Amino acid sequence: AVDLGVPAVGTRRRRSRQVRVGSVPVGGDAPVSVQSMTTTVTANVDATLRQIAELTAAGCQIVRVAVPSQDDADALAAITGKSPIPVVADIHFQPRYVFAAIEAGCAAVRVNPGNIRKFDDQVAGIARAAGDAGVPIRIGVNAGSLDARLLSRYGKATPEALVESALWECSLFEEHGFTDLKLSVKHHDPVVMIAAYRLLAARCEYPLHLGVTEAGPQFQGTIKSAVAFGVLLADGIGDTIRVSLSAPPVEEVKVGLSILESLGLRPRRLEIVSCPSCGRAQVDVYRLAEQVSAAFDGFGTPLRVAVMGCVVNGPGEAREADLGVSSGNGKGQIFVRGQVVRTVPENQIVEALLDEAMKRDWT
Ligand code: SF4
Repeated sequence: AVDLGVPAVGTRRRRSRQVRVGSVPVGGDAPVSVQSMTTTVTANVDATLRQIAELTAAGCQIVRVAVPSQDDADALAAITGKSPIPVVADIHFQPRYVFAAIEAGCAAVRVNPGNIRKFDDQVAGIARAAGDAGVPIRIGVNAGSLDARLLSRYGKATPEALVESALWECSLFEEHGFTDLKLSVKHHDPVVMIAAYRLLAARCEYPLHLGVTEAGPQFQGTIKSAVAFGVLLADGIGDTIRVSLSAPPVEEVKVGLSILESLGLRPRRLEIVSCPSCGRAQVDVYRLAEQVSAAFDGFGTPLRVAVMGCVVNGPGEAREADLGVSSGNGKGQIFVRGQVVRTVPENQIVEALLDEAMKRDWT
């Protein structure tokens, strides 16, 4: 390979201090973790635990729950007691819920900097309680909740304003000797968000929680998050990620995991290498790729499965796949590691691929 002098993704990581969100280390040399947020009413303990179970099954490592009322705060102990993954309490306006969340066994607390000023006199108490319990705090700066003073100085939520807000909030805790912090400076515009995180990364050593806030519906939000996280993670910036979608939270987890897999920051699960189809295709590639995806979903071993529309370029284009199919003349040539092992009628392609996958030891 030609050495272009460019470090590979994942080989260069910003130095950040590590915090522990329950059992999940965030920052330092810990793998980048994936998190999401429940959409249930937190006080509905059963529904919230059901959604946490779904998120956990999808690969979520940390879950955040909103705590807007006393009923929600009262439900936290029941949720943390049964959740298989660490629970972060998301708190606005009510400092007393922060104490309740720590008491209830939450693994971390997120507080909003636009609100924390209103309880300045309580910062010392929060720092002491969180420090005693070993609970880190995320300072979550959002474009929409930027401090009014900074908004008037900068005119809008610029990267500089977001970073200044985050560092000022940090200083409120640092004054009390509390530094178990992680930070986010989210913005809906990936360009502003990327600039803000780069600036913040250069100005502190706290671990960073990446997010494009209000990223939008699934397609747009996926693109925005993948682009923004990709740019930052490729530069070693970011210790935990949350994809925000106007879609069920399980989808956020799937997208987050796929972003990390795409960058080689976590082992791949299933990868479908399917061609885009062209005038040479002799099969409905789109449909076949969907069918193969569905058939291999949940397959125990991570495999790279190729779905190629023709026999002309198919096997060559998919040389690095574990197994795959090239279609032509109503048939499918099934190949394993580049070698054609059998030819089957088109309607048996999916079954033949699964059969070849299951009868081999891929380790
Ligand atoms: Fe076209 Fe064949 Fe390549 Fe698919 S594999 S894009 S059908 S040439």
